[in-house]
Amino acid sequence: MTDCIALIVASGRGQRFGGELPKQYMPLLGSPLLRHTLACFANHPGVSGVRAVIHPDDRALYEDASAGLDLMSPVIGGATRQDSGRLGLESLTDQPPQKVLIHDGARPLTDVDVITRVIRALDHQEGALPALPVADTLKHVQDEFVGETVDREGLYRAQTPQGFLYEIILSAHRRFQGQAMTDDAAIAEAAGLSVTVVAGDEGNIKVTAKDDLLRAERQLVGTLRPRTGMGFDVHRLEEVHAAGHAGLVLMGLTLPEPFRMIGHSDADVGLHAITDALLGALAIGDIGSHFPPSDPKWQGADSAIFLKHAVDEVARAGGIIEHIDATLICERPKIGPYRQAMTERLSELLRLPGERISVKATTTERLGFTGRGEGIAAQAIATILRPAPTGLT
Ligand code: MG
Repeated sequence: MTDCIALIVASGRGQRFGGELPKQYMPLLGSPLLRHTLACFANHPGVSGVRAVIHPDDRALYEDASAGLDLMSPVIGGATRQDSGRLGLESLTDQPPQKVLIHDGARPLTDVDVITRVIRALDHQEGALPALPVADTLKHVQDEFVGETVDREGLYRAQTPQGFLYEIILSAHRRFQGQAMTDDAAIAEAAGLSVTVVAGDEGNIKVTAKDDLLRAERQLVGTLRPRTGMGFDVHRLEEVHAAGHAGLVLMGLTLPEPFRMIGHSDADVGLHAITDALLGALAIGDIGSHFPPSDPKWQGADSAIFLKHAVDEVARAGGIIEHIDATLICERPKIGPYRQAMTERLSELLRLPGERISVKATTTERLGFTGRGEGIAAQAIATILRPAPTGLT
C-alpha cells in the first residue's frame, strides 16, 4: 500500500460561532466535533496515518477529543489556515508520504467513499478534490436586490479532503507562503498543478454556524447503528475487621465498609459488568480475553484500567456510548447513599454525562448467595451507536 497521511487542520478559533469553545471542540452527539472528523480518517483503510494541526491553546481539548484513537502526534498550526496546512506538511518531511490529504477539522461527516475517491485519483493525478455541481440558480445580489443571474454552468462547490502528491504540494505551499489563497487546491492551481475533481457528498458539510451542528447531529444519527451488550459478574465478599482495611472497592470508588471482594484484580464487580457490556456491544470478546486472569500483570489491578480500555475500544470503532444501565445485587452495603458518587465516578471513566448513566441496586430477599451476603453480583447493559458497516475492509 502506498502511504497516505491525512492532515486534519483544526487550529482555527471559530469566532463565527461565538462562545468560548472553538467550534471544532463543540459536542456533536456527545463527543467533540473534531473527534468525529479524526475517526473518519483513522478508520479508513487507505489512510496510513492521521495528524491533526491544532492551536497551542487547545492541547488539553485535543487530548480529550483524541483519547483512544490511533493517531500521530499533533503539530501546532500557524496564524492562518494556509500557514497551518504548510506547517502540517513540513512536519512530515522526515518520513515523507507519497500522498497527503488535507482536510477541514470542521467537516466531521466525511463519507468513506469520498476519501477513497480522492486517494484513488492520486494514482494518476497530482491533485484531487471532491466537489459538487452548483444546483441552485445563482444570483448576484446588491443591497438586497437581485442584480443579475449568474451562469452556473461548470460551477462546483469544493469540499475537502483535498489530496495531493506530497512533494509537489509541499513545494507549492513553500512557494506561495504568505500569499493568501482560499484553499490548498488554489495553491496547487497557482503552482500549475493538475487537480482533478471527484464526486463530493452533500453530507460532507462544513460546520460553520450553530445550525450546521444540529444538521450534522441529525445526519450522524442516521449513519450510526445501535448495538447492545450485556455484562454480568460475581465476586466473593469477605468481612474484614483488621485495622488499616482500606474499604470496599465498588464502581470505581473505595467505600468505607468493613468488607472486601476477593478476585484476581481489585474485584470491582460493578466495573467488570460494565466493561463486559461494552465489549459485548462491540462483539470483541470479554474482560477475561482482554485481561487474562492468568497474567500476573493484572493481580490487584485497578479495574478502572479495564473499563477505560473498553471505552477506548468503542472510540476506536468510531462509536459512541449512548447509555449505561447497571444493577448491583447485594444485601450489603446499602447502595443508595453511594449512588450519586458512583454515577459521578462512572461519568468520569466513561466520559459520559451523568444523565446517560444509571446505577441501580436490588437485594434478592435474603435468598441465594447474595442474600446470604457471600458475594455481590452486578449486571450491566450498554447501548452504543457505531457506524454501519460500509463494505470496505
Ligand atoms: Mg470479575
